[in-house]
Amino acid sequence: MTATVKEKRVSDRHSWGWQALLSCPCHPQSALRELASGQLHCSEASCTYYTEPFLQVDGQPVLIDFAASVCTPDAFEQLESGSLLDRKRSPIAKLVKRVIWGTSHRTRQNVTRFLTELKQHNPKPTLLIVGGGAVGSGSEALYGDADVTVVSFDIYASEHTDFVADAHDIPLKDGVVDGIWIQAVLEHVLEPQRVVAEIHRVLKNDGLVYSETPFMQQVHEKAYDFTRFTESGHRWLFKDFALVDSGTVLGPGTALLWSMRHFAAGLFRIKKAGELLAVVFFWVRLLDRLIPQGNTSDAASAVFFMGRKSDRAITRAEVIRFYRGVR
Ligand SMILES: [Zn+2]
Repeated sequence: MTATVKEKRVSDRHSWGWQALLSCPCHPQSALRELASGQLHCSEASCTYYTEPFLQVDGQPVLIDFAASVCTPDAFEQLESGSLLDRKRSPIAKLVKRVIWGTSHRTRQNVTRFLTELKQHNPKPTLLIVGGGAVGSGSEALYGDADVTVVSFDIYASEHTDFVADAHDIPLKDGVVDGIWIQAVLEHVLEPQRVVAEIHRVLKNDGLVYSETPFMQQVHEKAYDFTRFTESGHRWLFKDFALVDSGTVLGPGTALLWSMRHFAAGLFRIKKAGELLAVVFFWVRLLDRLIPQGNTSDAASAVFFMGRKSDRAITRAEVIRFYRGVR
């Protein structure tokens, strides 16, 4: 599947003028201008990036306003691979990870629903993947649809990204994309409300968003992990969107396996002890299949929200009525 995704990404990059959607991260209304040297600049004369070019990493523009981001230019200049995070895993480590943690059946179902909803408004939609440096677990089918143009960014360049950006300032013009997929990203941003406001801004009217965010999960990505959401908190985060669907993607069994791993790693003061326990007890997450959706919300490992851009925010009373845990 990975090879297919890679091939699709490469062919997209050569066949579609996604650059036309780009804007300056500091001036969302200002198009980028490309000089003969191939370097990109902001077209607003008062902008720092009017005279100074945006950095390039692995042939991809780094459209980050460093004055307003936790990312620093030094990090990109020092790295040969362009990745801020160490993502290299051996094939065996990847296989073990897949066996222990599996893939959410619900995520796969949600991809199918998302693509159907997306094409209802535009048969040839443009889909933006926020945090698309790695293909999200269970989301492979997003990349395999010939009618969907996928544009992807992350805070590091990879074979799956088109440009590098910070989601607090998405470098796209207003109302230009049909759909946005943001999976396991919002816990890693300092201001999730601002990221969701950016998602709202760059979506077309009635544009579709899909978000998957952890609730009961321990810290991962080290210093870049800040927030968790209950299903209701996640709904409120997307209050400017009309509900299409919401629920649990990973249940209490998966949450328990995460806890067991971190408990063992703490007790024995070694990360490997946690990983060993997770290998032995991987089957605990399979018990999620025995728990009905209605009983998973209060203790979910991760929740999802699918919704359409709206000009009416839900009210405080509506989010209280939204609660769908064990009453
Ligand atoms: Zn600018």
